[in-house]
Amino acid sequence: MVKNLYKIANEKKIKYFLISFVDLFGVLRSKLVPKRAIKEMQKNGAGFAGFASWLDLTPADPDVFGVPDPESLIQLPWNKEVGWLASDLWINGKPLEASPRVMLKNQIKSLKKKGFSMKSGVECEYFLVTAQGNSILDSRDTQSKPCYDQLALMRRYDFIKEICEYMIEMGWGPYQNDHEDANGQFEMNWNHDDCLVTADRHTFFKFMVKTIAEKYGFRATFMPKLFKNMTGNGCHAHISVWKGKKNKFLDKSNDLGLSKIAYNFIGGVIKNASSLSAFFNPSINSYRRINAQHTKSGSSWSPSSISYTGNNRTHMIRIPDPGRFELRLMDGSTNPYLLQASIIAAGLDGLKNNINPGRPLNFNMYEDYKKYPNLPKLPNKLDQSLKKLKDNKDMNAAFGKQVINSYIKLKRAEIKNFKKKEIFDKSKAITKWELKNTLDC
Ligand SMILES: [Mg+2]
Repeated sequence: MVKNLYKIANEKKIKYFLISFVDLFGVLRSKLVPKRAIKEMQKNGAGFAGFASWLDLTPADPDVFGVPDPESLIQLPWNKEVGWLASDLWINGKPLEASPRVMLKNQIKSLKKKGFSMKSGVECEYFLVTAQGNSILDSRDTQSKPCYDQLALMRRYDFIKEICEYMIEMGWGPYQNDHEDANGQFEMNWNHDDCLVTADRHTFFKFMVKTIAEKYGFRATFMPKLFKNMTGNGCHAHISVWKGKKNKFLDKSNDLGLSKIAYNFIGGVIKNASSLSAFFNPSINSYRRINAQHTKSGSSWSPSSISYTGNNRTHMIRIPDPGRFELRLMDGSTNPYLLQASIIAAGLDGLKNNINPGRPLNFNMYEDYKKYPNLPKLPNKLDQSLKKLKDNKDMNAAFGKQVINSYIKLKRAEIKNFKKKEIFDKSKAITKWELKNTLDC
């Protein structure tokens, strides 16, 4: 039974709905719709001029319609008059292939054909900075190893508590908040769930953290690498594949607690990692976080090579517990929907082609990488990831050639724009262009 949004509005005293969508660049856009119009909008969607967002449409194309998913409804905990909705984009009476939420749903459908579903959790790191974004907010947060710094965490108690309380109220099951490994950096964790639910919550989390930060007069940023000598913002994801209520990744008889399905899935992620870094690491700035030099704290916590391991944070894939793996490649600028969609597409490739990921590597990658010169490396620049994606036949087939071409075209235009003013050099300071264009990613 489809939820009736008009009826819910009356029951919950919602006056307005934010009908939102995320475009190919991960920008969250929406229309604010009064209750009186929601019946019509629930049926036909809210109209948008597609060219005005990153969807590779022209001004001559017809309107796109954001058809809200009533299951995604969140009554804003800080403004109960407003209900937030994630929507799928439609054009000419059909789902728009370049709508990231539609792209994720297509991958979910493909996985479902094998009888499986994917559950995931994400770890969205962020910095709290001044409203201008030019320095961290807390001038006393200066430890050289600042991870879990209690004083710095508790100076932000009001802000963190407010968001955590909202997550409790929304039923997300938050369970911990901490100061991360860079000065000014925080992370808040909530329970894993079905991957579409997690993608919607990931989208909403970024909106919520930025909004509440503004209320306090500061600014939150998920930018991959804000400071050259500090740890960047990762967005690690924990993944498991299920058949009904059974975790198909779990095999207690295996050393690391993983099944053949899990190893094949990991094999697919390893095989396609370079290409999919175009989605996992979609900003020019992303490539300062991966392949990074050591930071002030002693570790970048981000991968350089394509490898997997057991419970060891120096590799791209970690297996922290039986029945799941953690992919540590993604950064804060990743599109919440394309993150999940890419993992499914890669994993499905692994399942279909029975890909063996090889043996897990158990050394300290940050120290001993020179002893393993033949390990495949992650791309050094966004151009390289885009080229890999373009040449990857399996990923073109999984997502559709047209949408991959659209994405590459838009990203290449962005790089061209960057190159007019700047040169990407990791040994130099972060450019003004990166700050201006990535701070609010
Ligand atoms: Mg973290």
